[in-house]
Amino acid sequence: MSRIIAVANQKGGVGKTTTAINLTASLARARRRTLLIDLDPQANATSGLGVMPASVNVGIYEVLIGLESFDKSLTRLEAGFDAVFSNKSLFGAQVELLNMDQREHRLRISIGDSRDKYDYVIIDCPPVLNILTLNALSCADSVLVPVQCEFFALQGLLELFDTVRRVQKSWNEKLEIEGILRTMYDQRNKLSKEVSDKLVEFFEEHLFRTIIPRNVRLAEAPSHGLSVIEYDKNCTGTTAYIALTGELLSKEKR
Ligand code: ATP
Ligand code: MG
Repeated sequence: MSRIIAVANQKGGVGKTTTAINLTASLARARRRTLLIDLDPQANATSGLGVMPASVNVGIYEVLIGLESFDKSLTRLEAGFDAVFSNKSLFGAQVELLNMDQREHRLRISIGDSRDKYDYVIIDCPPVLNILTLNALSCADSVLVPVQCEFFALQGLLELFDTVRRVQKSWNEKLEIEGILRTMYDQRNKLSKEVSDKLVEFFEEHLFRTIIPRNVRLAEAPSHGLSVIEYDKNCTGTTAYIALTGELLSKEKR
């Protein structure tokens, strides 16, 4: 059974793309058949995997608006997983989708039975709760929410949870919270610890035990077109994303 996980948070720059790339790479390393879908017109996951967005001819845009089949958009990467890339034409899809039938379900319909080829499908969402993110949440089994341990983190989480409830009501009643992931944690920063403590207090049952530390290797890896696991297998970022993967995989046994 495949599991589709949307990596989402309407707040920008919290580590969604970093998490999507490195979780996908780490799942592939654990020999799971894995697919990463870049659903963000910024195309950071695409460029972070070493592909120039402008060179993408069949990407998620063409799939969503029905120009190409999902299978045609798949690219096999050396890192051992498949990817569907994005580019800035996806900005336009937001308008085009508004006039289409089943506009919140285009992604689920396009993926169709292809999901069965994978154990995990990870979707990197844009930093807004727009029609693209709704497509991700409507097709996902769960949502993984990266949060940066800083002051406004909690407020953003409540908004996101509200959206998840609406999606559950209208389009996808089985959508679960996969977990809240603390990212860019800086142990020298008092605020990081305070916000992390608050997250434990209010969201403990949803919180991943793994905390992703601030680690410069995580920021460097995408400029080499690599996941951090390929870039530096011994850094703290790699260790943390492998631990996160372990937490996810431990749920398979339940
Ligand atoms: P957006 O909302 O724009 O899509 P995002 O939530 O996808 O952003 P990222 O692009 O993953 O966030 O991260 C934002 C920036 O922080 C990037 O430059 C990334 O390399 C860096 N970064 C992410 N996680 C870490 C980390 N744990 N340690 C150090 N730098 C990080
Ligand atoms: Mg991103």
